[in-house]
Amino acid sequence: MQTANDIRATFLNYFASQGHQIVESSPLVPRNDPTLMFTNAGMVQFKNVFTGAETRPYSRATTSQKCVRAGGKHNDLDNVGYTARHHTFFEMLGNFSFGDYFKEGAIEHAWNLITKEYGLAPDKLLVTVHSSDEDAAALWRKIAGLDDSRIIRIPTDDNFWRMGDTGPCGPCSEIFYDHGPQVAGGPPGSADQDGDRFIEIWNLVFMQYEQLSPDRRIELPKPSIDTGMGLERLAAVLQGKHDNYDIDLLRALILASADATKVAADGPHAVSHRVIADHLRSTSFLIADGVLPSNEGRGYVLRRIMRRAMRHAHIIGCKEPLMFRLVPALVQMMGAQYPELVRAQPLITETLKLEETRFKQTLERGLRLLDEETANIPEGGSLPGETAFKLYDTFGFPVDLTQDVLRGRNRTVDIDGFNQAMGRQKAEARKAWAGSGEAATETLWFELRDELGATEFLGYDTEVAEGKV
Ligand code: ATP
Ligand code: MG
Ligand code: MG
Ligand code: MG
Repeated sequence: MQTANDIRATFLNYFASQGHQIVESSPLVPRNDPTLMFTNAGMVQFKNVFTGAETRPYSRATTSQKCVRAGGKHNDLDNVGYTARHHTFFEMLGNFSFGDYFKEGAIEHAWNLITKEYGLAPDKLLVTVHSSDEDAAALWRKIAGLDDSRIIRIPTDDNFWRMGDTGPCGPCSEIFYDHGPQVAGGPPGSADQDGDRFIEIWNLVFMQYEQLSPDRRIELPKPSIDTGMGLERLAAVLQGKHDNYDIDLLRALILASADATKVAADGPHAVSHRVIADHLRSTSFLIADGVLPSNEGRGYVLRRIMRRAMRHAHIIGCKEPLMFRLVPALVQMMGAQYPELVRAQPLITETLKLEETRFKQTLERGLRLLDEETANIPEGGSLPGETAFKLYDTFGFPVDLTQDVLRGRNRTVDIDGFNQAMGRQKAEARKAWAGSGEAATETLWFELRDELGATEFLGYDTEVAEGKV
C-alpha cells in the first residue's frame, strides 16, 4: 500500500522532475493577508507572485500546503462527521506556474501524474470545465482522450475562480473520481451531486484574466496556473478506500482514540472518533502555528473546534481529558513532514489539557440543561435564542456547538434571538464600563477573569454568529 507520506512525496518529486521548485508549506496563519482567517489553499502564499507585486527566483513551484477550512469564506466545519471527503485540516498538493506554462501544460501534467505515476484507471475519471472554456474541453479531448460525456460543462461560479472583486481570475477545471454506483450521489453538475460517489480530487485554476473593475476584465499577458489536490482524497482512491477517514493518516488517529477510550473504532461511536481525529489535527496544527484558544478571532475558532471535539469525547463516555493523550499518535504520523509539530508538542499537549479540564466542568452541566430544554421542543422546532445565549454565556458553549448538538436531534437554534441576547449583553457591559475611560483596564479585567476560570465571562468580546468570525 502507498502511504499518504509516499503519495505526498511522489507528487512533489514528480513536479520537481518537471522543473518545479519544492517550496515549504506556509503557516496556517497567513503572513501576507490580514483579511484571511487561515491559509485555506496552496496559492495563498503565492498571492503576490500572481499579481506581480512580488517576484521569485523560479517560475514553477510545487507544495504540500497545510490548510484549515473552518471559519471565513471556506468553512467545512459543519461537514466533518457528515461527508466522506471533508476535513477541517487537510493537505493540499499543488503545482504552480507563474507566467510559465498554461492550460495545456497543466492538463498534461495532471493527467500524466494521476494516470501514469499513480496509475488511476482513466475510465473512473471525469472532468468539469467552465462552459465558456472550450479551450480546456478541447485539451481534455486531445490530451486525455476523454469523450464529451466525460467532460462536463458547468456554467456557474463553481468553475470560475477569482481572488477577490478585482485581481487575477479565470475558469477552472476539476477532476473527479467515480467511487462506483454503490455510493449515493450524482455526477458534478447534476441535482444530486452533493453525494459522495463522484469525488472532486483535483482543481486546476487557469488564471487567464485580470478583473480591473466590476465591468472591466482584460486578458493577462502572462497567464498562470494554480492547482490544488486534496492529499487525503487522493490517498483514499489509491488505498482502495471510499472514505477519507479510512486512509492510514486518519485511521491511526481513530485507532488511538479508540484505544484511549476503550470504545470500538467502528461501532456506534464511529462518527465521534472521526470528528475527534479531524479536530485533533486542526487544533494541533493551529497551536503549532501560534494560535491559542481565546474569545475572539482565530483563537475563538480554535476554541470552537476544540470544544466540539470535547463534546464528542463526552458522547463516547470519556470521563477524563482525552485529546492531549492523542498528540503522540499525530506526531508519529506527521512529525517528520511537519517538524513544527514536534517542536510544539509540549505546548499542544498542555493547551489541550488545560482547555479540556476547564471546559469539562461546564460541558456536562450545559448538556444537561440542553437535554431538558430539547425535551420541550417539537421535532423540527428551534431552541430559543435566550437559552442558546445562556449556554454560551454561562457554560461556554459556542453557538455552533449548540447547533451541532441540536442538528443530531432534528432541531435548530433561533440565531436571531441569540444575536439579540448577545447584543443586549454587550450594550449593558459597555454601559457598566462607561466612564472608566480605560480600555486597557477592561481587557485586563477580562483576562484575569478568564485566567481564574470564571466561564461566565467567556466571550464578552466575541462575535459568534457564523460568518462574523
Ligand atoms: P468540495 O467541492 O468537495 O467541497 P472544493 O471545490 O471546495 O471541494 P477546492 O477549493 O477546489 O475544493 O480545493 C482544492 C482541492 O482540495 C479539492 O479538489 C479537494 O481535493 C481538496 N479539498 C477541499 N476542501 C477540502 C476539505 N474540507 N477536506 C479535504 N480536502 C479538501
Ligand atoms: Mg468546498
Ligand atoms: Mg468543488
Ligand atoms: Mg474545487
